[in-house]
Amino acid sequence: MAVLPVVKYGDSILRKKVNKVDINEIGQLTNLIDDMFDTMYEEEGIGLAANQVGVNLNLMIIDVTHLDEYKDLEPIVFINTEVLQENGSIELEEGCLSIPEIRATIPRAESIVIRYIDELGQSNTTEFNGMFCRVILHELDHLNGKFFTDYLSSAKRKLVHSKLLEIAEDGYPSTGVVL
Ligand SMILES: [Zn+2]
Repeated sequence: MAVLPVVKYGDSILRKKVNKVDINEIGQLTNLIDDMFDTMYEEEGIGLAANQVGVNLNLMIIDVTHLDEYKDLEPIVFINTEVLQENGSIELEEGCLSIPEIRATIPRAESIVIRYIDELGQSNTTEFNGMFCRVILHELDHLNGKFFTDYLSSAKRKLVHSKLLEIAEDGYPSTGVVL
């Protein structure tokens, strides 16, 4: 088990749509998944996409069990996730391990139905809402090459532009904010 370096804004792997996982190779992902959990907890995140640790695969992990409403759940591994349905819209503030120090309020769906494969190779179709839904959509955006800052108006994006450039140039050290 190991803590992996988190790839920061500016790295091209965060701007590409990742490849699907070959479901016959899920058994070979065990070490990577363990390392991703180590990394996420070390960075005090609640979600992490594989390309945030430099791996081009449709894989993400989420642990929101510190929140009361999800305390009975286990952390979840999502492989080859597809969104089947999105409902509602709600604005909330987000941050990102790959974009340290920037936070912004953006709209996302309030609930979603997704199909994903878990680390045991089982297919699941599940509805998620609230913060869990938001984290899933944030991580799915990573797997599709998108950042939450892409949703900002051009005026607001101008405000964070120089900070984004700084992160892209320096591989800015993480300050351990959320997703
Ligand atoms: Zn993020």
